[in-house]
Amino acid sequence: MNRNDIIDLLRIDNRNEIEELFSQARKAREKEFGNKIFMYGFVYFSTWCRNDCNFCYYRKSNEIDRYRKEPEEIISIAENLAGSGVHLLDLTMGEDLTYHRDNFDLLYDIVRRIKENTGLPVMLSPGLIEDRDIARFAELGVEWYALYQETHNRELYAKLRLNQDYDQRMHGKLYAKETGMLIEEGILAGVGESLGDIADSILEMGRIGASQMRVMSFVPQDGIPMESVRKPDPLLEEKIIAILRLMYPWVLIPASLDIDGIKGLEDRLNAGANVITSIIPPKTGLAGVAQNSMDVDEGGRTVEEASHILKTMGLQPATVLDYRECLARLNGRCN
Ligand code: SF4
Repeated sequence: MNRNDIIDLLRIDNRNEIEELFSQARKAREKEFGNKIFMYGFVYFSTWCRNDCNFCYYRKSNEIDRYRKEPEEIISIAENLAGSGVHLLDLTMGEDLTYHRDNFDLLYDIVRRIKENTGLPVMLSPGLIEDRDIARFAELGVEWYALYQETHNRELYAKLRLNQDYDQRMHGKLYAKETGMLIEEGILAGVGESLGDIADSILEMGRIGASQMRVMSFVPQDGIPMESVRKPDPLLEEKIIAILRLMYPWVLIPASLDIDGIKGLEDRLNAGANVITSIIPPKTGLAGVAQNSMDVDEGGRTVEEASHILKTMGLQPATVLDYRECLARLNGRCN
């Protein structure tokens, strides 16, 4: 599909045509992955950040309660998640200067111990870090580096990610890919982008060779400059998921529990997503990214709850071995 084809698909509003789009996306997923779905545990271990992104609840100017989890607690949460049956551990932080100041020695040690203790693949989402730090994590065997542009329209980017250089951020993920890591790229829907911008992002995610492609609807939260922007029609996110699946059948596409909690899972899977992200253990004081508390302490974001929904949809959780095989295929494509 070229840019115009993508825009045409994003424009469809006839329910039958939308259903047909989703049905084709599901077929493409089934051909590539069967009925197996992957699940990622999410450990948002520090909500401190030096940046001021306009769309983010954790921007440094927002006066909110923040936390930085102690290493032992991070490791224990990761072990618990591993025991609950997730296939990967997503370790995420804001751009917390505490970790930057010691050249990431502390985080390096935490990640090393998590890898040793759980044996699971790890995705690192630390924000933009130096090439030398990326290279160290790659050497440690960290499988993924996640770093989202959120849009590939440079003008809009400058409004969203204040005072952050577009090219430096893009360089970070391309460098991670050079070191042999898989990369995740992501966009936000509903932040002032046009359909053409979305089409450009979809093409760009393919061009840079992202192995996981994420779209999340913007969620307005208290205290941010975009507080009064309306949450977009959920169909937009679902259509983008379906188009990504049709264009890049082999990639991993998240159905994030961060936007609508567990009740939003079925629609995203129906649109062709194949990874349930943001599984968070209840009562650990951990937050989500797009929505800081949605369904977390209610226990809605667990492997058990997600597996129940998969069963009703004729899908099933993959095994860790399935996930390892998938990573090997993705690596084979990248190298
Ligand atoms: S999006 Fe990330 S980098 Fe931007 S303010 Fe939020 S936590 Fe910081």
